[in-house]
Amino acid sequence: MNQSVTRGNFDDWMMPVYAPAAFIPVRGEGSRLWDQQGKEYIDFAGGIAVNALGHAHPAMIKALTEQAGKFWHTGNGYTNEPVLRLAKQLIDATFAEKVFFCNSGAEANEAALKLARKYAHDKFGTHKNGIVAFKNAFHGRTLFTVSAGGQPAYSQDFAPLPPQIQHAVYNDIDSARALINDDTCAVIVEPMQGEGGVVPAAPAFLKELRALCDRHNAVLIFDEVQTGVGRTGELYAYMHYGVTPDVLSTAKALGGGFPIGAMLTTDKFASVMVVGTHGTTYGGNPLASAVAGAVFSLINTHEVLNGVKQRHQWFTERLSAINARYPLFDEVRGMGLLIGCVLKAEYAGKAKQISQLAAEHGLMVLIAGANVVRFAPALIISEEEVKTGFDRFELACARFLSGVTS
Ligand SMILES: *Cc1c(COP(=O)(O)O)cnc(C)c1O
Repeated sequence: MNQSVTRGNFDDWMMPVYAPAAFIPVRGEGSRLWDQQGKEYIDFAGGIAVNALGHAHPAMIKALTEQAGKFWHTGNGYTNEPVLRLAKQLIDATFAEKVFFCNSGAEANEAALKLARKYAHDKFGTHKNGIVAFKNAFHGRTLFTVSAGGQPAYSQDFAPLPPQIQHAVYNDIDSARALINDDTCAVIVEPMQGEGGVVPAAPAFLKELRALCDRHNAVLIFDEVQTGVGRTGELYAYMHYGVTPDVLSTAKALGGGFPIGAMLTTDKFASVMVVGTHGTTYGGNPLASAVAGAVFSLINTHEVLNGVKQRHQWFTERLSAINARYPLFDEVRGMGLLIGCVLKAEYAGKAKQISQLAAEHGLMVLIAGANVVRFAPALIISEEEVKTGFDRFELACARFLSGVTS
């Protein structure tokens, strides 16, 4: 018999790097989840922009169980059919000509930064090693990626950090221009900062980064781990901007909940990666690839991508109505179904409290920093789920205001 477990056990047994909600979800369907007590939640969090098709989608279950009955893993001494099909899907749908598979967003960015260093070393010499990243960026938690990330709180305790990484100000092209020169090997940027507060890039900013990278032979890396696979209403956010990177990292929604990541690039840059340069045991595992292939083909359709734009309207219209009654937010920003609500100055630091109140009312939401309530629901969330979710959010906002006004 299975041992019965409670939320309290987390504090006893788990390394305390997370502060999970007070309830334990046990089952999901679409954009609904139920906890151990049978209480229902609408899911506007989407597993942090991962569950693009919601929970227990039949196409994902079919892909997973079909592959589960065949074989799960061989290692990269053998290739497999699901991974080759997935690579072809990604290549056909994007600028990419070569794909490297791994298991997470951090690993995809780690591979991208290593590729950029190796490309510069091979083609120009080891003096060309500078990496330009941005303040408030998030690129993952390996030592290299957390150092590229622009939140010192996440990296400083692990010093010494990898050298030659500098941070410019996001959306401030002059600050980037001041750091990018002939010794720069890579510029890494999120087309829309996710963890950093849901901040879309200005189109001119990305265009000028492209030009600076061309001028100085630096590799332009777009971190699309959060913005990719339909999240913004295009397959990848670079398509909105008409700015094509040299290397793109994708993960999160790619597997719809099954761990997988990928680095996409062109033949030109991939050419420096040879047998033994880089690798990972599970990368391109058939189980992960089979699920990702099913997720990708479902999302990469006009119906789903246009549906994201439609749902963006549902979200922003309802949010402005709620904000008119309960004026909590200064700004609602974002693209597609990655939406951030910026708290007014008088409620600064209270995003977590709002997310907890939402959970009490049966709604899961995310935060992005202390001042932004973030929504990253399934790309196919139904109109009824959106309506019910916002009815609950409105109650949470009312409760919050009645609690904080003195
Ligand atoms: C989540 C995220 C990562 C890290 O992905 P993991 O799968 O957690 O390693 C990297 N970059 C961005 C933009 C992300 O949102």
